[in-house]
Amino acid sequence: MALWIYTQMVRPIILYGALVWWSKSIQQTAITKLGKVQRLACLCITGAMRTTPTGMEALLNLPPLHIAIQEEAATQALMLHMKVNFKLGNLTGHLNILNKIKNTISMAQVSDHIDPTLCFTKGYTVTFPERIEWKTNPKWMNDDSHKWYTDGSKTLYGVGAGVVGPRIHKSYTLTRDTTIFQAELYAIMEAVNIMQRRNHKRVKIKVLSDSQSVLKALDNYTYNSKTLLECHKALNNLASKNNVSLIWVPGHEGYDGNEKADFQAKKGADENFIGPSPMFGFNKNNLKQKVKYWAKTLLNQHWNNVEGLRHSKKFLSFNAKRANMALTLNKKSIRTLTGALTGHFTCNKHLHKLGITNTSTCRFCCEDEESMEHLIIECPGLTHRRKRFLNKFMLADEDLQSLPQKDLVQFISILNSQ
Ligand SMILES: [Zn+2]
Repeated sequence: MALWIYTQMVRPIILYGALVWWSKSIQQTAITKLGKVQRLACLCITGAMRTTPTGMEALLNLPPLHIAIQEEAATQALMLHMKVNFKLGNLTGHLNILNKIKNTISMAQVSDHIDPTLCFTKGYTVTFPERIEWKTNPKWMNDDSHKWYTDGSKTLYGVGAGVVGPRIHKSYTLTRDTTIFQAELYAIMEAVNIMQRRNHKRVKIKVLSDSQSVLKALDNYTYNSKTLLECHKALNNLASKNNVSLIWVPGHEGYDGNEKADFQAKKGADENFIGPSPMFGFNKNNLKQKVKYWAKTLLNQHWNNVEGLRHSKKFLSFNAKRANMALTLNKKSIRTLTGALTGHFTCNKHLHKLGITNTSTCRFCCEDEESMEHLIIECPGLTHRRKRFLNKFMLADEDLQSLPQKDLVQFISILNSQ
Protein backbone atom coordinates (compact mmCIF):
# COMPACT_ATOMS: atom_id res chain seq x y z
CA MET A 1 0.00 0.00 0.00
CA ALA A 2 2.83 2.38 0.88
CA LEU A 3 4.54 1.61 -2.43
CA TRP A 4 1.31 2.22 -4.30
CA ILE A 5 0.74 5.57 -2.57
CA TYR A 6 4.29 6.59 -3.36
CA THR A 7 4.45 5.52 -7.02
CA GLN A 8 0.88 6.44 -7.95
CA MET A 9 0.32 9.62 -5.97
CA VAL A 10 3.47 11.15 -4.52
CA ARG A 11 5.82 10.62 -7.45
CA PRO A 12 3.43 11.88 -10.16
CA ILE A 13 2.98 15.07 -8.11
CA ILE A 14 6.74 15.52 -7.99
CA LEU A 15 7.21 14.71 -11.67
CA TYR A 16 4.51 17.12 -12.84
CA GLY A 17 5.79 19.49 -15.52
CA ALA A 18 9.28 17.99 -15.27
CA LEU A 19 10.15 19.21 -18.77
CA VAL A 20 10.15 22.81 -17.55
CA TRP A 21 12.28 22.47 -14.44
CA TRP A 22 14.31 19.28 -14.78
CA SER A 23 17.59 21.18 -15.21
CA LYS A 24 17.38 22.31 -11.57
CA SER A 25 16.90 18.75 -10.40
CA ILE A 26 20.41 17.70 -11.38
CA GLN A 27 22.07 20.20 -9.04
CA GLN A 28 23.68 18.53 -6.05
CA THR A 29 21.52 20.29 -3.44
CA ALA A 30 18.36 19.22 -5.26
CA ILE A 31 19.61 15.65 -5.64
CA THR A 32 20.19 15.46 -1.88
CA LYS A 33 16.75 16.83 -1.07
CA LEU A 34 15.01 14.57 -3.55
CA GLY A 35 17.00 11.67 -2.14
CA LYS A 36 15.51 12.38 1.28
CA VAL A 37 11.95 12.18 -0.05
CA GLN A 38 12.57 8.85 -1.72
CA ARG A 39 14.40 7.55 1.35
CA LEU A 40 11.42 8.32 3.53
CA ALA A 41 9.16 6.46 1.10
CA CYS A 42 11.53 3.46 1.06
CA LEU A 43 11.55 3.34 4.86
CA CYS A 44 7.75 3.37 4.93
CA ILE A 45 7.57 0.58 2.36
CA THR A 46 10.19 -1.73 3.84
CA GLY A 47 9.73 -0.84 7.51
CA ALA A 48 13.52 -1.02 7.74
CA MET A 49 15.73 0.41 10.49
CA ARG A 50 16.03 4.20 10.47
CA THR A 51 19.74 3.96 9.70
CA THR A 52 19.28 1.86 6.55
CA PRO A 53 21.23 3.35 3.64
CA THR A 54 19.70 4.47 0.36
CA GLY A 55 20.57 1.09 -1.16
CA MET A 56 16.94 0.22 -0.37
CA GLU A 57 15.86 1.86 -3.63
CA ALA A 58 17.71 -0.85 -5.55
CA LEU A 59 15.83 -3.53 -3.61
CA LEU A 60 12.52 -1.87 -4.57
CA ASN A 61 13.72 -0.99 -8.09
CA LEU A 62 12.88 2.68 -7.58
CA PRO A 63 15.34 4.78 -9.59
CA PRO A 64 16.53 7.90 -7.71
CA LEU A 65 14.17 10.81 -8.24
CA HIS A 66 16.60 12.98 -10.18
CA ILE A 67 16.87 10.21 -12.78
CA ALA A 68 13.09 9.64 -12.84
CA ILE A 69 12.67 13.40 -13.39
CA GLN A 70 15.04 13.41 -16.37
CA GLU A 71 13.29 10.38 -17.85
CA GLU A 72 9.93 12.08 -17.49
CA ALA A 73 11.24 15.34 -18.96
CA ALA A 74 12.71 13.55 -22.00
CA THR A 75 9.48 11.64 -22.58
CA GLN A 76 7.40 14.80 -22.34
CA ALA A 77 9.71 16.67 -24.74
CA LEU A 78 9.57 13.88 -27.32
CA MET A 79 5.80 13.39 -27.09
CA LEU A 80 5.34 17.13 -27.63
CA HIS A 81 7.77 17.19 -30.53
CA MET A 82 6.11 14.19 -32.14
CA LYS A 83 2.64 15.69 -31.95
CA VAL A 84 3.22 19.40 -32.54
CA ASN A 85 6.58 19.45 -34.31
CA PHE A 86 7.42 22.65 -32.47
CA LYS A 87 10.53 24.71 -33.21
CA LEU A 88 13.46 23.21 -31.40
CA GLY A 89 15.73 26.27 -31.55
CA ASN A 90 19.32 25.65 -30.51
CA LEU A 91 18.38 23.07 -27.89
CA THR A 92 19.66 24.95 -24.90
CA GLY A 93 17.75 25.44 -21.68
CA HIS A 94 15.15 22.87 -20.79
CA LEU A 95 15.06 21.27 -24.26
CA ASN A 96 18.72 20.41 -23.75
CA ILE A 97 17.43 17.06 -22.49
CA LEU A 98 16.92 15.99 -26.12
CA ASN A 99 20.63 16.46 -26.79
CA LYS A 100 21.38 13.77 -24.28
CA ILE A 101 19.58 10.94 -26.05
CA LYS A 102 20.97 10.05 -29.45
CA ASN A 103 18.76 9.97 -32.56
CA THR A 104 15.51 10.58 -30.78
CA ILE A 105 14.86 13.98 -32.40
CA SER A 106 15.02 12.51 -35.88
CA MET A 107 12.91 9.59 -34.66
CA ALA A 108 10.23 11.99 -33.42
CA GLN A 109 10.27 13.78 -36.77
CA VAL A 110 9.65 10.55 -38.67
CA SER A 111 6.64 9.78 -36.55
CA ASP A 112 3.71 7.58 -37.40
CA HIS A 113 1.47 9.78 -35.29
CA ILE A 114 -1.25 12.01 -36.74
CA ASP A 115 -3.79 14.13 -34.93
CA PRO A 116 -6.88 12.00 -34.31
CA THR A 117 -8.71 11.96 -37.65
CA LEU A 118 -12.38 11.08 -37.95
CA CYS A 119 -13.60 8.93 -40.86
CA PHE A 120 -17.24 7.94 -40.91
CA THR A 121 -17.37 6.32 -44.35
CA LYS A 122 -16.61 2.69 -43.94
CA GLY A 123 -17.30 0.39 -46.88
CA TYR A 124 -16.13 -2.78 -45.15
CA THR A 125 -17.31 -4.64 -42.07
CA VAL A 126 -15.32 -6.05 -39.16
CA THR A 127 -16.54 -9.06 -37.17
CA PHE A 128 -15.18 -10.83 -34.13
CA PRO A 129 -16.67 -14.34 -33.95
CA GLU A 130 -16.36 -16.17 -30.62
CA ARG A 131 -13.75 -18.91 -30.32
CA ILE A 132 -16.56 -21.43 -29.85
CA GLU A 133 -18.16 -20.37 -33.16
CA TRP A 134 -14.87 -21.09 -34.90
CA LYS A 135 -14.79 -24.57 -33.39
CA THR A 136 -18.32 -25.52 -34.40
CA ASN A 137 -18.11 -25.41 -38.19
CA PRO A 138 -18.15 -21.66 -38.90
CA LYS A 139 -20.80 -20.78 -41.48
CA TRP A 140 -18.80 -17.88 -42.95
CA MET A 141 -16.18 -20.33 -44.17
CA ASN A 142 -18.59 -22.32 -46.31
CA ASP A 143 -19.45 -19.80 -49.01
CA ASP A 144 -17.79 -19.03 -52.33
CA SER A 145 -16.03 -15.86 -51.12
CA HIS A 146 -12.31 -15.24 -51.68
CA LYS A 147 -10.50 -15.82 -48.43
CA TRP A 148 -7.28 -13.96 -47.65
CA TYR A 149 -5.25 -14.72 -44.57
CA THR A 150 -2.77 -12.13 -43.28
CA ASP A 151 -0.29 -12.23 -40.43
CA GLY A 152 2.63 -10.27 -38.99
CA SER A 153 5.50 -11.73 -37.04
CA LYS A 154 8.27 -10.32 -34.86
CA THR A 155 11.13 -12.65 -33.95
CA LEU A 156 14.62 -12.19 -32.52
CA TYR A 157 15.98 -11.83 -36.07
CA GLY A 158 13.53 -9.39 -37.61
CA VAL A 159 9.99 -8.55 -38.59
CA GLY A 160 7.95 -10.07 -41.39
CA ALA A 161 4.48 -10.12 -42.88
CA GLY A 162 2.69 -12.93 -44.68
CA VAL A 163 -0.25 -13.05 -47.09
CA VAL A 164 -2.03 -16.21 -48.20
CA GLY A 165 -4.87 -16.00 -50.71
CA PRO A 166 -6.24 -17.70 -53.83
CA ARG A 167 -3.26 -18.83 -55.94
CA ILE A 168 -0.75 -16.89 -53.87
CA HIS A 169 1.51 -17.39 -50.84
CA LYS A 170 3.73 -14.41 -50.17
CA SER A 171 6.17 -13.29 -47.50
CA TYR A 172 7.55 -9.79 -46.88
CA THR A 173 10.58 -8.68 -44.91
CA LEU A 174 10.21 -5.46 -42.93
CA THR A 175 12.65 -3.27 -41.02
CA ARG A 176 13.55 -4.33 -37.50
CA ASP A 177 12.04 -1.26 -35.87
CA THR A 178 8.59 -2.09 -37.26
CA THR A 179 6.10 -2.88 -34.53
CA ILE A 180 3.96 -6.00 -34.66
CA PHE A 181 0.90 -3.76 -35.08
CA GLN A 182 2.41 -2.13 -38.17
CA ALA A 183 3.44 -5.53 -39.57
CA GLU A 184 -0.14 -6.82 -39.25
CA LEU A 185 -1.47 -3.70 -40.98
CA TYR A 186 1.14 -4.01 -43.71
CA ALA A 187 0.03 -7.59 -44.42
CA ILE A 188 -3.57 -6.45 -44.84
CA MET A 189 -2.50 -3.59 -47.13
CA GLU A 190 -0.43 -5.94 -49.29
CA ALA A 191 -3.37 -8.33 -49.60
CA VAL A 192 -5.53 -5.39 -50.71
CA ASN A 193 -2.86 -4.34 -53.22
CA ILE A 194 -2.77 -7.78 -54.80
CA MET A 195 -6.55 -7.79 -55.13
CA GLN A 196 -6.48 -4.32 -56.71
CA ARG A 197 -3.92 -5.52 -59.24
CA ARG A 198 -6.15 -8.45 -60.06
CA ASN A 199 -8.84 -5.87 -60.73
CA HIS A 200 -11.55 -7.54 -58.65
CA LYS A 201 -15.12 -6.34 -59.22
CA ARG A 202 -18.26 -7.49 -57.42
CA VAL A 203 -16.33 -10.16 -55.57
CA LYS A 204 -17.09 -11.34 -52.05
CA ILE A 205 -13.83 -10.90 -50.14
CA LYS A 206 -12.99 -12.04 -46.62
CA VAL A 207 -9.75 -10.90 -45.00
CA LEU A 208 -8.89 -13.03 -41.99
CA SER A 209 -6.41 -11.71 -39.45
CA ASP A 210 -5.52 -12.98 -35.97
CA SER A 211 -4.73 -9.53 -34.61
CA GLN A 212 -7.57 -8.28 -32.41
CA SER A 213 -5.87 -4.93 -31.83
CA VAL A 214 -5.54 -4.18 -35.55
CA LEU A 215 -9.11 -5.19 -36.34
CA LYS A 216 -10.44 -3.19 -33.40
CA ALA A 217 -8.44 -0.15 -34.56
CA LEU A 218 -9.91 -0.52 -38.07
CA ASP A 219 -13.40 -0.95 -36.62
CA ASN A 220 -13.00 2.41 -34.91
CA TYR A 221 -13.85 5.80 -36.44
CA THR A 222 -10.86 7.77 -35.10
CA TYR A 223 -7.40 7.15 -36.47
CA ASN A 224 -4.22 8.41 -34.88
CA SER A 225 -1.62 6.58 -36.95
CA LYS A 226 -0.56 7.20 -40.54
CA THR A 227 -0.21 3.50 -41.31
CA LEU A 228 -3.64 2.78 -39.90
CA LEU A 229 -5.30 5.55 -41.92
CA GLU A 230 -3.54 4.37 -45.08
CA CYS A 231 -4.80 0.83 -44.52
CA HIS A 232 -8.32 2.12 -43.89
CA LYS A 233 -8.25 4.08 -47.16
CA ALA A 234 -6.96 1.08 -49.13
CA LEU A 235 -9.74 -1.09 -47.71
CA ASN A 236 -12.38 1.52 -48.48
CA ASN A 237 -11.10 1.75 -52.03
CA LEU A 238 -11.36 -1.99 -52.51
CA ALA A 239 -14.79 -2.01 -50.87
CA SER A 240 -16.12 0.56 -53.32
CA LYS A 241 -16.31 -2.16 -55.99
CA ASN A 242 -16.48 -5.32 -53.86
CA ASN A 243 -18.06 -6.76 -50.77
CA VAL A 244 -15.28 -6.71 -48.19
CA SER A 245 -15.38 -8.05 -44.66
CA LEU A 246 -12.63 -8.44 -42.09
CA ILE A 247 -12.92 -11.38 -39.72
CA TRP A 248 -10.92 -12.26 -36.66
CA VAL A 249 -9.45 -15.75 -36.63
CA PRO A 250 -7.94 -17.25 -33.44
CA GLY A 251 -4.16 -17.37 -33.88
CA HIS A 252 -2.02 -20.48 -33.32
CA GLU A 253 -5.00 -22.80 -33.02
CA GLY A 254 -4.40 -24.82 -36.13
CA TYR A 255 -6.68 -23.06 -38.63
CA ASP A 256 -5.11 -23.95 -41.95
CA GLY A 257 -4.98 -20.54 -43.70
CA ASN A 258 -3.85 -18.75 -40.56
CA GLU A 259 -1.04 -21.25 -40.01
CA LYS A 260 0.12 -20.78 -43.61
CA ALA A 261 0.10 -16.97 -43.26
CA ASP A 262 2.01 -17.31 -40.00
CA PHE A 263 4.58 -19.49 -41.74
CA GLN A 264 5.04 -16.88 -44.49
CA ALA A 265 5.38 -14.07 -41.94
CA LYS A 266 8.04 -15.99 -40.00
CA LYS A 267 9.85 -16.72 -43.25
CA GLY A 268 9.91 -12.98 -43.99
CA ALA A 269 11.17 -12.21 -40.49
CA ASP A 270 14.10 -14.59 -40.94
CA GLU A 271 15.46 -12.72 -43.96
CA ASN A 272 17.56 -9.57 -44.06
CA PHE A 273 15.77 -6.40 -44.98
CA ILE A 274 17.37 -4.50 -47.86
CA GLY A 275 16.39 -0.86 -48.39
CA PRO A 276 16.05 2.44 -46.59
CA SER A 277 14.97 2.38 -42.98
CA PRO A 278 12.60 3.04 -41.24
CA MET A 279 9.81 1.72 -43.41
CA PHE A 280 7.08 3.15 -41.18
CA GLY A 281 7.10 6.14 -38.89
CA PHE A 282 7.99 5.63 -35.25
CA ASN A 283 5.27 5.63 -32.68
CA LYS A 284 5.07 6.58 -29.03
CA ASN A 285 6.26 3.21 -27.84
CA ASN A 286 9.45 3.28 -29.93
CA LEU A 287 10.39 6.63 -28.44
CA LYS A 288 9.43 5.70 -24.90
CA GLN A 289 11.54 2.57 -25.14
CA LYS A 290 14.52 4.60 -26.29
CA VAL A 291 14.13 6.98 -23.34
CA LYS A 292 13.76 4.05 -20.97
CA TYR A 293 16.96 2.52 -22.24
CA TRP A 294 18.78 5.81 -21.79
CA ALA A 295 17.44 6.20 -18.24
CA LYS A 296 18.65 2.69 -17.50
CA THR A 297 22.22 3.60 -18.49
CA LEU A 298 21.98 6.73 -16.32
CA LEU A 299 20.87 4.54 -13.47
CA ASN A 300 23.73 2.09 -13.92
CA GLN A 301 26.25 4.94 -14.00
CA HIS A 302 24.72 6.38 -10.85
CA TRP A 303 24.79 3.04 -9.03
CA ASN A 304 28.41 2.41 -10.00
CA ASN A 305 29.61 5.90 -9.07
CA VAL A 306 27.61 6.62 -5.93
CA GLU A 307 29.80 6.77 -2.84
CA GLY A 308 29.55 4.29 0.01
CA LEU A 309 26.88 1.55 -0.08
CA ARG A 310 29.59 -1.09 -0.25
CA HIS A 311 27.39 -3.78 1.26
CA SER A 312 24.27 -2.88 -0.77
CA LYS A 313 26.20 -2.85 -4.03
CA LYS A 314 27.55 -6.30 -3.31
CA PHE A 315 24.09 -7.77 -2.74
CA LEU A 316 21.77 -5.59 -4.82
CA SER A 317 21.21 -4.20 -8.28
CA PHE A 318 18.19 -2.52 -9.87
CA ASN A 319 16.08 -5.42 -11.08
CA ALA A 320 12.34 -5.20 -11.62
CA LYS A 321 11.75 -8.93 -11.39
CA ARG A 322 13.53 -9.33 -8.07
CA ALA A 323 11.83 -6.22 -6.69
CA ASN A 324 8.42 -7.69 -7.51
CA MET A 325 9.41 -10.95 -5.88
CA ALA A 326 10.51 -9.10 -2.73
CA LEU A 327 7.18 -7.29 -2.60
CA THR A 328 5.26 -10.57 -2.42
CA LEU A 329 6.78 -11.14 1.04
CA ASN A 330 5.00 -9.94 4.17
CA LYS A 331 6.10 -6.75 5.88
CA LYS A 332 8.18 -8.47 8.55
CA SER A 333 10.04 -10.45 5.92
CA ILE A 334 10.63 -7.38 3.76
CA ARG A 335 12.11 -5.67 6.79
CA THR A 336 14.40 -8.62 7.44
CA LEU A 337 15.35 -8.87 3.77
CA THR A 338 16.15 -5.16 3.57
CA GLY A 339 18.30 -5.50 6.67
CA ALA A 340 20.16 -8.49 5.26
CA LEU A 341 20.82 -6.92 1.87
CA THR A 342 21.79 -3.46 3.07
CA GLY A 343 23.77 -4.63 6.10
CA HIS A 344 21.76 -2.64 8.62
CA PHE A 345 20.14 -5.18 10.87
CA THR A 346 20.35 -6.53 14.38
CA CYS A 347 23.83 -7.97 14.00
CA ASN A 348 26.41 -7.20 16.68
CA LYS A 349 28.59 -5.03 14.47
CA HIS A 350 25.73 -2.69 13.77
CA LEU A 351 24.28 -2.78 17.29
CA HIS A 352 27.72 -2.11 18.73
CA LYS A 353 28.07 0.91 16.45
CA LEU A 354 24.75 2.21 17.78
CA GLY A 355 25.93 1.60 21.35
CA ILE A 356 23.34 -1.09 22.10
CA THR A 357 25.71 -4.03 22.67
CA ASN A 358 29.18 -3.89 24.16
CA THR A 359 30.86 -6.28 21.72
CA SER A 360 30.92 -6.61 17.95
CA THR A 361 32.20 -10.20 18.00
CA CYS A 362 30.15 -12.89 16.26
CA ARG A 363 27.79 -14.82 18.53
CA PHE A 364 27.93 -17.91 16.35
CA CYS A 365 31.65 -18.44 15.79
CA CYS A 366 33.23 -16.04 18.29
CA GLU A 367 36.02 -15.45 15.80
CA ASP A 368 35.16 -12.54 13.60
CA GLU A 369 33.25 -9.31 13.65
CA GLU A 370 29.52 -10.06 13.35
CA SER A 371 28.55 -8.13 10.22
CA MET A 372 25.66 -9.10 7.95
CA GLU A 373 28.17 -9.92 5.26
CA HIS A 374 30.04 -12.28 7.58
CA LEU A 375 26.83 -14.00 8.65
CA ILE A 376 25.43 -14.50 5.16
CA ILE A 377 28.61 -15.39 3.30
CA GLU A 378 31.04 -17.19 5.55
CA CYS A 379 30.31 -17.48 9.29
CA PRO A 380 31.54 -21.00 10.17
CA GLY A 381 29.02 -21.19 13.03
CA LEU A 382 26.14 -21.09 10.50
CA THR A 383 27.52 -23.50 7.90
CA HIS A 384 24.81 -26.14 8.34
CA ARG A 385 22.03 -23.62 8.51
CA ARG A 386 23.38 -22.06 5.31
CA LYS A 387 23.40 -25.44 3.59
CA ARG A 388 19.84 -26.09 4.75
CA PHE A 389 18.34 -22.81 3.56
CA LEU A 390 20.65 -21.53 0.83
CA ASN A 391 21.94 -24.92 -0.34
CA LYS A 392 25.63 -24.01 0.04
CA PHE A 393 28.13 -24.25 2.90
CA MET A 394 29.83 -21.02 1.90
CA LEU A 395 28.71 -18.42 -0.62
CA ALA A 396 30.77 -16.99 -3.46
CA ASP A 397 30.59 -13.41 -4.75
CA GLU A 398 28.65 -14.39 -7.85
CA ASP A 399 25.85 -15.97 -5.75
CA LEU A 400 25.08 -12.79 -3.86
CA GLN A 401 22.98 -10.96 -6.43
CA SER A 402 20.65 -13.89 -7.02
CA LEU A 403 20.05 -15.29 -3.53
CA PRO A 404 16.54 -16.72 -3.16
CA GLN A 405 14.86 -14.01 -1.09
CA LYS A 406 12.43 -16.15 0.89
CA ASP A 407 15.13 -18.60 1.91
CA LEU A 408 17.49 -15.79 2.84
CA VAL A 409 14.84 -14.35 5.15
CA GLN A 410 14.45 -17.73 6.83
CA PHE A 411 18.20 -18.16 7.10
CA ILE A 412 18.67 -14.78 8.70
CA SER A 413 15.63 -15.07 10.99
CA ILE A 414 17.95 -16.78 13.51
CA LEU A 415 18.96 -13.28 14.54
CA ASN A 416 15.39 -12.51 15.63
CA SER A 417 15.20 -15.56 17.86
CA GLN A 418 18.48 -14.87 19.63
ZN1 LIG B 1 30.62 -15.80 12.78
